[in-house]
Amino acid sequence: MLRLFSALMLLLVAAACASAPPRAAAPRVVVNYGPPGDPHNPVQGPYQPNQYLQVCNGMSVSNSPPFYPGGWVQDFKPVIVVNTVVLVTVPTNDACLSSGFGFRGGRIHEGVDLTRRPAGPVYAAAPGRIIEARHSDGYGWQVLIDHGKGVYTRYAHLAHFEPSVAVGREIGFGQPVGQMGDSGNATAVHLHYEILTGNYHNPRGSKGLDVRDPFSFPAYELTFAGS
Ligand SMILES: [Zn+2]
Repeated sequence: MLRLFSALMLLLVAAACASAPPRAAAPRVVVNYGPPGDPHNPVQGPYQPNQYLQVCNGMSVSNSPPFYPGGWVQDFKPVIVVNTVVLVTVPTNDACLSSGFGFRGGRIHEGVDLTRRPAGPVYAAAPGRIIEARHSDGYGWQVLIDHGKGVYTRYAHLAHFEPSVAVGREIGFGQPVGQMGDSGNATAVHLHYEILTGNYHNPRGSKGLDVRDPFSFPAYELTFAGS
């Protein structure tokens, strides 16, 4: 519980944003998990989430959430709460949404696809423990993090892992996991990101967990600077 209460967020910039802002000025939300103190809160990394998300320009995304003209996702929640775990919905920066969660071509897409050019680093969406870091035919190079409270996140199609990534290691919020890539059955460079809930210790492992729509969870209540 400590890490939930120690999570403090400050809204840095509230830029008016009628059209696409320059990348360098894309506003971020500041997530601060507080100083490490308990074993579930390792030192956090440099990443902070973008405040907005845009559907990729020129792409027809059949399963995207509703968006405004220009592709900006309506009511986008950069930071959410899943079973009391504070988690980000887009664990990379300045990326666009190339596929949403849910039905796509007659199958359920079990995560969201996020991409940018050039490919960028991918970060831990919350503190946790790495429980998978390996290659599979479908996901390619993929990492699975256990955040406790029955909450897990998967990062797939990576080009490579960070050298510090290994099964059993604790990882802080915002620490790099690896580089976006097109390993496995990806047809283009992107991050396939999943939020999963349940109990990993079942006969099917991560495939026995429930896949969840990242955009379906309540937003973490932001604390504004100066309050
Ligand atoms: Zn995907």
